[in-house]
Amino acid sequence: MTVRGLVYAEPGAAPAFEEIVLEEPGENEVRVRVAACGVCHTDLHVVESGGWHMRFPILLGHEAAGVVEAAGDGVTHVAPGDPVVIAWHVPCGECRNCLRGDERRCSNYLRGARKMRRAADGALLAPVLRTGGFADALVVHAACAVKMPAELPLEQACLLACGFSTGAGAALWSTPVQPGSSVAVIGCGGVGLAAIQGARLARAERIVAIDTVPEKLELALQLGATEAVAAGDEVADIDFAFSAIGAPAGLVDAVRMLAYGGTACLVGVPPSRRALDLDIELDLFAKHATIAVTHGGDVVPQQDLPFLANAALAGKLDLERFVTSTIALDDVPAALEALHTPSGVRTVALL
Ligand SMILES: [Zn+2]
Ligand SMILES: [Zn+2]
Repeated sequence: MTVRGLVYAEPGAAPAFEEIVLEEPGENEVRVRVAACGVCHTDLHVVESGGWHMRFPILLGHEAAGVVEAAGDGVTHVAPGDPVVIAWHVPCGECRNCLRGDERRCSNYLRGARKMRRAADGALLAPVLRTGGFADALVVHAACAVKMPAELPLEQACLLACGFSTGAGAALWSTPVQPGSSVAVIGCGGVGLAAIQGARLARAERIVAIDTVPEKLELALQLGATEAVAAGDEVADIDFAFSAIGAPAGLVDAVRMLAYGGTACLVGVPPSRRALDLDIELDLFAKHATIAVTHGGDVVPQQDLPFLANAALAGKLDLERFVTSTIALDDVPAALEALHTPSGVRTVALL
C-alpha cells in the first residue's frame, strides 16, 4: 500500500512529503494507521545534525499512536482495531543486559524488518527511532505496538511514546525517586514537566522546578512542583536532580545541588564532544554522588506504558495538559522549525 510520509532525503535537504510504499507486515510485525504523532526535538536533532548517524533517506517522526490495521503471523497481544502507542525502546531479550535481567538497560532495541520504501526510487527508508510516525501508516515490530486503554485519546497516548515517558520514566524507573525524597528538575519543557509528574507519582516530598521562564515555572507548580526557582538561584539538599536541558551545565548544576548520597540524572540528548566541569573530590567523592543517564525513561514499554496510561485515566498524571496544540500533518515541517522558539508544551500532529 502507498501512504504519505515526511522524508529527510539527504544532508541539508528540507524535510518534504513523499509517497511511501509499505510492504505487508511479516511475522511478528504489525501495520498501524497513525492517528497522532508528537513533534519532538529529536526529529529536529536528526535534521540539524545531518542525520544523527542514520542512513538516508530518513522517515521522520517517532512519537506515534494509532490503530492496528494488519497483524502478521505470531502476533497475539494486539489485533486489528486495537488502539496502540508505538514504543521505540523495546528490550531485545538477547543482549548482555537483557540476559542478566536488566531490560531497562537493553542496548539493542527490537526493530521490524525494514518494510517502508520511497515510492519514487524504491529506496529503503530509515525510520527515526525505528518508528517513522509522520506517515499515514507504518510497519513496526509487533513488540513496539503497545495496547492502550480505549478511553485514552490517541493525541495524549502518543506522548507516551517518547517525551512524556522520558521525563516520567527518568523519575519512576531510571533513578528511581523514593517516597519522601527531595527532587529538583532543571528545565521545565515537556520532558522536565513530565519528570515532575513522575516524581509526584513516586511520592517525592519536595519537588523543585528550575527554569528561566516564569510561565514554565507557573505550569510546573500546577503539575506537581512544590517550589519554583529561577535558574541560577541556589538549590541544595536534593536527593534526585534531573537535568532536562541539553547544555552540560545542567548536569553540573544537578550534581552540585545534591545532598549526600544523591543522584543526578541526565535526561535528553546532550551536544556531542562536551566535558563536565566537576570537581571529582568535592562534587562527586565527598558527596557520594551518583550520575545516572536515562534513555527514553528506560521504560519496558509493554508494562510501563499501560501503567502510565492508566495513571492518566485515574487522574494521577495530567497528560491532557501536555498537548498544547494540535496541527495537521502538512504543518509538521513548520512545527519542527518552531521548536527553536518553544511555546506551549507539546504540538501533536493529527492524521
Ligand atoms: Zn536487550
Ligand atoms: Zn522524542
